[in-house]
Amino acid sequence: MHRCNVLAAPLVAVLAALVAVSGCSRAVDSPAAPATGGVAATTAASPAPGAGEPGLEGTGTEPAAPPTTRAKPAPVRYRFPVAGCRAGYGRTHHDYPAADIFSRRGCAFVAPVDGRVDEVARVDRWSPATDRGADRGGRSVSLVGVDGVRYYGSHLEAVAPGVVKGSRVRAGQLLGRIGDSGSASGTPVHLHFGISWPTRPGIWWVRRGIVPPARYLDSWRAGGDLSPVGAVRAARAAAGREVPACRARC
Ligand SMILES: [Zn+2]
Repeated sequence: MHRCNVLAAPLVAVLAALVAVSGCSRAVDSPAAPATGGVAATTAASPAPGAGEPGLEGTGTEPAAPPTTRAKPAPVRYRFPVAGCRAGYGRTHHDYPAADIFSRRGCAFVAPVDGRVDEVARVDRWSPATDRGADRGGRSVSLVGVDGVRYYGSHLEAVAPGVVKGSRVRAGQLLGRIGDSGSASGTPVHLHFGISWPTRPGIWWVRRGIVPPARYLDSWRAGGDLSPVGAVRAARAAAGREVPACRARC
């Protein structure tokens, strides 16, 4: 559907790679497609998220792109992050923007977009006695998408085998199983889902969520591809720095 070869030539190098690969990955996106195809090339064209400039800012898309690009973002394919199970979520979240997606224990948390695994917590270190912010997510996985946005899922029962920092994943690929680890202990089983910009490791108060996910979840569940790139970019600009101070439940 997307004109990969037509677009690749005239655009700025980085942008072209991003657009073309995204378009191609849409075209070849099937269970039989090679697992690394589009993502590998896209990752190579983007700076390493978490190392230095955050991916969203560092793609070069913002400063280098012609004005028309803002109105027509690169076509990235998104997936609803819970697969194979019924799931429900509200419009708001306590204390900061995020979504708690309620589903059954063991249901699949899948990558919402092609990308690269950012941070993984396989061990639940949370304790009600300390309630450390860094531990509240329990078992968790974050992913930096080809769109430069970071996606985070926590309170997992288990992280999927092979999902380790730096591994490349495709939209829809299993990242973990939904549970109630971390501070969700004793609450209804749910996936805490956060959207943010990439940061250096360990910045949990950004990773847990900056932009409200509900409208994107609505789109993805309906088969749409609404992108949070603009909202995340705006939030990052408003913050003024990669690591703003923690303001709630710190
Ligand atoms: Zn939550």
